[in-house]
Amino acid sequence: TSAPTGSQGQKRPAISFEFFPPKTEEMEHNLWEVINRLAPLTPNFVSVTYGAGGSTRERTHSTIARILSETKLTPAAHLTCVAATKADIDDVVARYHEVGVRHIVALRGDPTTGIGTAYAAHPDGYQTSADLVASIKKRYPDIDVTVSAYPEKHPESADFDADIDALKAKVDAGASRAITQVFFDNDLYFRYLDRVRARGIDIPVVPGIMPMHNFKQARNFVTRAGTTVPSWLADKFEGLDDDAETRKLVAATVAAGQVQKLAKHGVENFHFYTMNRADLVFAISHLLGIRPNGAQKAA
Ligand code: FAD
Repeated sequence: TSAPTGSQGQKRPAISFEFFPPKTEEMEHNLWEVINRLAPLTPNFVSVTYGAGGSTRERTHSTIARILSETKLTPAAHLTCVAATKADIDDVVARYHEVGVRHIVALRGDPTTGIGTAYAAHPDGYQTSADLVASIKKRYPDIDVTVSAYPEKHPESADFDADIDALKAKVDAGASRAITQVFFDNDLYFRYLDRVRARGIDIPVVPGIMPMHNFKQARNFVTRAGTTVPSWLADKFEGLDDDAETRKLVAATVAAGQVQKLAKHGVENFHFYTMNRADLVFAISHLLGIRPNGAQKAA
């Protein structure tokens, strides 16, 4: 992804936003307020997740279709291989292509028996995420495929070499960008990036940034996915369990500090896990120099 240059010569970071498909009408109404608030920031794309085990197949599709028909945003549909035959998954991809979707975030997914349990691919399904990427690119070369990356390595990977081999396989299969799992220590990201580049992988590895609206809840969630929550971060939220307002200010400060440090070290792309909330992400984007409708400020 390329970032346009601002009026003072600095590059404006390119951003993308991730949403989850709403479950109820009220949640849908809320999501659309969020999308309408964030859309003027002209993200490169907005992605919509695919519920564990494919549980949101229809809701992901309808959210993506609505974004396509009601906004100028570029939607990216997440898709996993879990608990589905190749034919089922090919059908999902074909439907996306038919309505005009040209960006898919292709993933293996978590075992239906829960994170941490052994993963078993569907016997008639795609065996790895790289197989899924290859299949999409073979049938639809015009679909841009994004994949995942793990600065702390995926919990199932034996070591970093195995982890980066898996990323390499996805890139060789045609992935053009990776988005990282959430991380809070920027050094982990830079060390990982060094390893990735040393392996000859040259696609953008976009940091996935999660503003922690609800620290306790988010900590449980990200820890299960293998992300380390440093003690300095937990300390910042200590004593704020009943103080949502201050938590929000702290969360914005922490995430803004993280992205500004990454930007200072040359990072030009950011993917925000929005949790379907606009306020913090809007503020953090603003601090990165991003203004509505392409107006730009030096960060
Ligand atoms: P892969 O990239 O295929 O593999 C990840 C690592 O695990 C590799 O390093 C590989 O070495 C190792 N590995 C894989 N399989 C095995 C195995 N059998 N034995 C040993 N090691 C193995 N989940 C959802 O359900 N829906 C989503 O929408 C979604 N979106 C995501 C978006 C991003 C940006 C990220 C980072 C994750 C997302 N996930 C989502 C979570 C993801 O599905 C899980 O992390 C899952 O466990 C791995 O899927 P993957 O495609 O990242 O795995």
